[in-house]
Parts: sequence; C-alpha cells; structure tokens
Amino acid sequence: MRLLMQTALCLVVIWFGLLGAGPVTERQGEVALDAAYAGLASEVATAAERVAPGQAVQSEEGAGSLILADQLVDYSAEEAKAAAKPTVYLTFDDGPSELTKEVLAILKREEVKGTFFMLGKEVKQYPGIARQVLQEGHAIGNHTYNHVYGELYGDFAVFAKQVMDTDDAIFKATGVRTNLLRAPGGTFGNFDQGYFDALAKAGYIVNDWNVDSGDSKRVGVPEKEIISAVEGSRLSGKVVVLMHDSSIHGESVKALPEVIAFFKKKGYQFSVLTDQVKPIQFRLAATLKWKRAKVTAAETLTLVQYTAKTRAKPAAPNTQSLLVHAGERELQFAPQEYSMQSGTIAVPLRQLAIGLQGIIRLDMTNGIVEAVVNNQSVSWTASEAGGSGKSLPSRIMVPLRETLQKFHIVINRIAVTADRREIWAEPSAI
Ligand SMILES: [Zn+2]
Repeated sequence: MRLLMQTALCLVVIWFGLLGAGPVTERQGEVALDAAYAGLASEVATAAERVAPGQAVQSEEGAGSLILADQLVDYSAEEAKAAAKPTVYLTFDDGPSELTKEVLAILKREEVKGTFFMLGKEVKQYPGIARQVLQEGHAIGNHTYNHVYGELYGDFAVFAKQVMDTDDAIFKATGVRTNLLRAPGGTFGNFDQGYFDALAKAGYIVNDWNVDSGDSKRVGVPEKEIISAVEGSRLSGKVVVLMHDSSIHGESVKALPEVIAFFKKKGYQFSVLTDQVKPIQFRLAATLKWKRAKVTAAETLTLVQYTAKTRAKPAAPNTQSLLVHAGERELQFAPQEYSMQSGTIAVPLRQLAIGLQGIIRLDMTNGIVEAVVNNQSVSWTASEAGGSGKSLPSRIMVPLRETLQKFHIVINRIAVTADRREIWAEPSAI
C-alpha cells in the first residue's frame, strides 16, 4: 500500500514575482555563539592552572629522567575520589607508523584503549593508520607537524602553524578535529606562559605525562628497561604513561603487553584522554631552554580564530519562534519545533508541506517519504530522512532553505529580532 496518509489535497499555489536568493545568515547569532565559544576556551584555561614552581628539573620527553610528583599539576587526588578505580592513560607519541598497527593489535587483544599523539607529517604519510586508530576506539591528539624543537620553540608563530597544519592533516585523514595536544619534548623548559595561554584560549588541552617509560631516552632502549622504568615509577590514581610508536620503537611494542599486564594486576582501568580529563601538566620552568620573543596577541588571535572556524559551535537553544512568509502563506514554528545550527534551520517536513498547502505521502513498505509542494515532487529515503534501513522516523526534520529550493521556492530575506526569526520566501521563476 503506497499511499498511507494523505494529509491535504494538493493545491497549486500561484506565486508571483521574480526573486533573487539571499543567503540565510545570521550574524547576530554567530557573534553570540562565538562569544559563548570564547567563554568556553577561557574556562579551559582556568582549569589548566598549574602549581607554583619548585626546584628546577630536567624533564625532557625521552630524556628518561625521573619525574617527581611535586613537579606536576596532579589532579589525581580529586579524580581518584570520583573514580571507583585508578585509571591509566597509555599514550603513544610520534606516530603513526607501520609499528602503530602492531600496537593496535596488542591493544585490541588486551581490550584496552590508548591515546595517540600524532605528527602531522606522519599522518600525511599514513592516513589509513590514523583512521584505523580512531575506528578502533582510541583517541588522537596533536603532536605538531615535524617535532623539530628548534623550529617549534624558537617562535610561537611556527609552533601555532604546525599545530594548525597537524589539526588539518588529522581532520583530512580521519574526519575529526582533536583538541588534545602534546608538546614535543613536553612543556617543561619549552613552554612559557604565553604558549600555555594562547593554546588554552584556542581550546587546546595540553597534556604532559607522569610516568615516562623511558623508551626514547636513547635509540633502542631494550624492552626490559622500558618495563622496569614503568614498574619503578611512582604511581597515583591517575597515570599518564609516555610511550612511542614511531618506526624506531620496536622495543616499545615488545614491552607493551607487559606494561598492560602490570597495570591490570595493579587494578587500573584503561581509558583515553578527552577534553573532559584534566591534563597532567609540568609546571613552568624558571628558565627556558630557548631564547625567543614573547607570544604576541596577533599570534594568539590567529590560533583562536582557526579553532573557532574549524570547530562545530555548540547549538544554542532556540528562544525565538520562526515565522516563514511564503507568498501569501504564513507558517509559524515554536522555538521547540525547529532547530538552528551553524546557520542551518531545520523544520518538520510535515508541518512545512502542509503549511505550504502541499501533500505528504509515506510509503512505509519501501521507507520513502514524498512531498509535493508548489507542483514539485521531492522524495527522501528513510536514511535521508534520518531513519535507518526502511524505517522512517516519526518526525522528519529537513533543512529549510535547501528543501524550499527543491520546491522551487527561494528565501530572499531574513530578519532576526529578540523574539523571532522571520523569513520571506517566494517561488522562483521556472
Ligand atoms: Zn614526541
């Protein structure tokens, strides 16, 4: 039975006028959302405050030096209270590489998840492996593009550029944007407050570590040494382990099963770093390893604008009703009846079609919905309508502008006031 529901008779509405299509944009809304985003970023900055500096230490990634608890901002006490079990975050830096596949196989076999801080240049070379990391449920973080300390820490503009290039490379390979970031070599002695502040303002979460596997303190650190470095570390309720999965780290892969077994035996649960996990950060060093100019406001702004542009903005709840004038028809949608995200308004198809004196036909057998409006017939499959398989959702939401265009109706004006969004549309000349 094809015709299950006919909600209205098709009336051909006569439209007049030749109209140009105006873009549906709402600067006012975007500005408000930008402000909300900026607010979020500054909260992140506050959350990442670090403890006051104590004695100076060498704490370079791969230097294998012991990291003392008082050198870290350690949120473990607070988080351990909340967590039923102590948590370990295994992190793998400098990949992806061919070895990453072996790491993934071990993690899969052991049923644990990890976090991979990737270099943009390696992501570009191994996009399929980057994708596999994500598909298997692990987290991805940004580890800059080329890892060259002299470039990254000689000039913040270069650091920022590498972060953005890597962000883009990860997005291109995996389809996701990551806010997780690890500084090559760690932040200690490399970052000044300007680096921390600019990255926090842009929404990046800088993660150092509190257990160094020592797998990078020289080339070819043997498996046994890696295992004993981990086992000999001071452990807390929240452990972030530094390991590496670039092509030269075969010994790390060999050590990994035993590292995992060690934390399992100690009763740790394994988790991935996210935006919601407070980062472990080294405190600021009294003296930097580098001589460079201060981070400028313009450099910070470039990075802030980049993330504002590339991240989906959170959907603000509608407070306004939506009024659509289409020729002589007037359609009203209450705030809860439509959605507005990133400049796109979605409305219920049935309400739209009926309001425009069209008809809707639901073909439940084949999972197809057809709307005829303004003499134009448009169909959606169940999956296009937001359902699955051949099952149509109970409420079908469609993008307003695009759907009107399919009905040969164009939006030519939009106005926004405190209590409503108002749109004027007319049929286009055929
Ligand atoms: Zn690294």
